[in-house]
Amino acid sequence: MSDQRLPRAEPPRAPLTNVFIDHSREALRARFAAEGISPHWAEQVFSWIYRRGVYDLSAMEDLPQDLRERLAGSWSFRTLETKEVQRSVDGTRKLLLSCWDGEVVEAVLIPEARRTTLCVSTQVGCALACSFCATGALGFTRNLSAGEIVDQVLCAGESLEPGETLTNVVFMGMGEPLLNLPAVHEAIRVMTDQRGLALAPRRITVSTSGVIPKIRPLLEIGSINLAVSLHATTDEVRDHLVPLNKRYSLQALMSALRAEERLSRKRPVFFEYTLIEGVNDSLEDARRLPELLKGIPSKLNLIPMNPHSASDYRPPTTEVCDAFAAEVHAAGVRVMLRKNRGRDISAACGQLARRSGAAQPGASLARSGAASR
Ligand code: SF4
Repeated sequence: MSDQRLPRAEPPRAPLTNVFIDHSREALRARFAAEGISPHWAEQVFSWIYRRGVYDLSAMEDLPQDLRERLAGSWSFRTLETKEVQRSVDGTRKLLLSCWDGEVVEAVLIPEARRTTLCVSTQVGCALACSFCATGALGFTRNLSAGEIVDQVLCAGESLEPGETLTNVVFMGMGEPLLNLPAVHEAIRVMTDQRGLALAPRRITVSTSGVIPKIRPLLEIGSINLAVSLHATTDEVRDHLVPLNKRYSLQALMSALRAEERLSRKRPVFFEYTLIEGVNDSLEDARRLPELLKGIPSKLNLIPMNPHSASDYRPPTTEVCDAFAAEVHAAGVRVMLRKNRGRDISAACGQLARRSGAAQPGASLARSGAASR
């Protein structure tokens, strides 16, 4: 399927306030209590939303009629609207979702034999300007709210096919999750609440480019997985690929991870390494990687660069990728050379693209989930 432009987004509407799905169950109880409403009714509303998929107060029969009318006047349920679902020949689906202000975010559903993973976005654009990522090239627009992150899961749930169940969520779409940590935390609370979306924490992975001060606070949410976008074995190369490295060097990042007590062989760091021809794909790089990872429980994902129009970078040949993986593996690193999914719909790692007709005419916002971070 082609990477089509979206129709021009709807004109901006008013910003949404009092959105149920912006709140964890605890936060909704607190909001209700502050407004003089029994927290019991917060539990009921939460259950209607996440256990029964009801987004209509008039259908919530066990709520008192006067409360339903009061809430209907000032609260809303959903934050996103599915504008289009693009399908790859390999079954990957890219959801184009419009926000209240006309911005468009993308989420990618990746069905596999034993699981179905959703890759969610956390920001519109990104301020970190990684040189291989077109999202970064377009700059930062705004953070997504917790409800806008949760709604990506709800929209994906509505596009599942018979027999499919959403099993995993990865925060690897557009944006740097750790620069929007309060919303990411609140969304994870909703996702992992047994009365919410009921995902096991180990089914959730949050990726960062290396915002060191936020790593420990992120992991305090529970036993979720951490992914780190590495992409280079020297500061010289990483400064160029991931400019955040000028602030938090490779050595500082690795030291912070070595000191992180929550990581273990059962809960390792997933290092993402995009292989770019002539940039970071040498055997010297492959030999430096095990040294860098020493002392950190880790799994290494190698992702051949997915070309896109905002970058001249290209993937190495299959032979170079295989030789790189073999060299790292020989040094005892758990390594996986990943297949690219959804390349034909620009949904593969490094290719995610949002199109906002109102915002950046002609611009392709590409970013990857796991690969380009
Ligand atoms: S790779 Fe991730 S952190 Fe870097 S610019 Fe793109 S979205 Fe931002």
